[in-house]
Amino acid sequence: MTEAGGQDDDALAHLAERKMRFLFALRSHGVTDPRVLTAMEKVDRGRFVRGVFAGRAYEDMPLPIACGQTISQPSVVGLMTQALAVGPRDTVLEVGTGSGYQAAILAQLARRVYTVDRWRRLVREASELFRDLGLVNVTAMTTDGSFGLPDQAPFDRILVTAAAEDPPGPLLQQLKIGGIMVLPVGQSDAVQHLIKVTRTERGFDYTELRQVRFVPLVEGLGNE
Ligand code: SAH
Repeated sequence: MTEAGGQDDDALAHLAERKMRFLFALRSHGVTDPRVLTAMEKVDRGRFVRGVFAGRAYEDMPLPIACGQTISQPSVVGLMTQALAVGPRDTVLEVGTGSGYQAAILAQLARRVYTVDRWRRLVREASELFRDLGLVNVTAMTTDGSFGLPDQAPFDRILVTAAAEDPPGPLLQQLKIGGIMVLPVGQSDAVQHLIKVTRTERGFDYTELRQVRFVPLVEGLGNE
């Protein structure tokens, strides 16, 4: 074997080990749904983290992205995706595109994904990534997601990745009967709870999942 071949083998072994550790971290945090694990194995988080933090993309930690925002911790992404119970025929709305990582995972599981952010720059960069990755069933748009996306409503599933004090009314209204919304609620600088809201014929059922910490859901658009 040539020296170059040996180096390639090393690089491959390193990649395989990194992937194994990444999946192990997910499982040990309770992400057990095989469809979610497969989706997360397919989407390379390294593509969604830029600059000085790129080398830490495979660690189970949130990392800074542009516009003062963060890409969520992989195990939290996994648990939220699992709680959302996305089916292959579902239309999903994500509020809080950020890096686009969560939307790319949803795109593996759903028929159609709409993701919105209040920062134009994040939407532009995420859209470029979706195009590069060939993810044709996800559309990113700049808008204040607390009002949802009335033109595309109603949704089978809604995922909010920024914390509001209470579930925003327009999002509840844009959920189909039988639909599920997963979102963090609580004050931005205090303990927040991840909750699952299921819309029934009679109203809404709420389940508390776990404590989390997300950036706040902010009104209006960003200036970048
Ligand atoms: N899901 C992202 C991480 C989201 S961080 C990922 O996978 O990388 C939370 C995001 O919510 C930020 O990008 C922030 O700009 C956005 N956000 C906050 N308030 C918002 C609002 N009212 N409407 C739309 N996006 C909002």
